[in-house]
Amino acid sequence: MRPLAALGATEASRLRGVVFDLDDTLLTHGELTLEAYRALFRLRDAGLRLYACTGRPAGWAAVVARQWPVEACLAENGAVAFAREGRGVVRILRLSEPERLAERARLCALARELEAAHPELVPTDDAFMRLCDVTYDIGERVSVPATRLAVVRRDAGALGLRTYASTIHLHLTLSGDDKASGTLWLLARRHGEDPTGALARYAFVGDSENDAPCFAAFRTTIGVANVAASARRLSVPPRYLAPAAMGSGFAAIADHLAAERARRALGGAT
Ligand SMILES: [Mg+2]
Repeated sequence: MRPLAALGATEASRLRGVVFDLDDTLLTHGELTLEAYRALFRLRDAGLRLYACTGRPAGWAAVVARQWPVEACLAENGAVAFAREGRGVVRILRLSEPERLAERARLCALARELEAAHPELVPTDDAFMRLCDVTYDIGERVSVPATRLAVVRRDAGALGLRTYASTIHLHLTLSGDDKASGTLWLLARRHGEDPTGALARYAFVGDSENDAPCFAAFRTTIGVANVAASARRLSVPPRYLAPAAMGSGFAAIADHLAAERARRALGGAT
């Protein structure tokens, strides 16, 4: 990982937008700080389209897309999104509603089997807002040791479930989507972006294992400083590393991208 300062004006100016994670990337231990929220406006004012991309539930995405200066918010690791449309939001799913309900019934039945074998699993406190996944708390209100988590994930895989882990939640899903495929599908649908072009034109900012598909797929990838704790679980680390953690790191990234784009606009060097 290279320092953020190595991301130059040419690369910053080529970008059309920024895709970013929420927990422990924009949010600092769950809190949206003033400097982090201000950073979103700094990026938008620099001409960048913003897409939040989180493992958090569809219910969060509906609020984020409606209230924040973003084009859309992908939730549940890319399985569902809410996008701004007029003065409201529209829900975007690949599945029809009957297909989603059928898949959800199968998912919940398999989750009950996993819970029977692991009665220690604690549902997340945002579970009631979810449409496409089932989630357990591993680092928010309770702490699950890595060795225990590995056993749960192995058993979930044996039941035919896919799992994603962030720093706070374990996700079970039957969806084929991850953060990268969900983002590319949304960009194509909302902005007519060719996926290959989108991978070069949108930066991704994240911090942990469920961001791995985006770190591997996008060309301009940036980790907030706390990504170092997840580095050994990332097949491809982010290309650039912010000088600070979580919301402060995100603010530093926004300042740097905006400054480099302004420098290029004024005819500065790369
Ligand atoms: Mg995160």
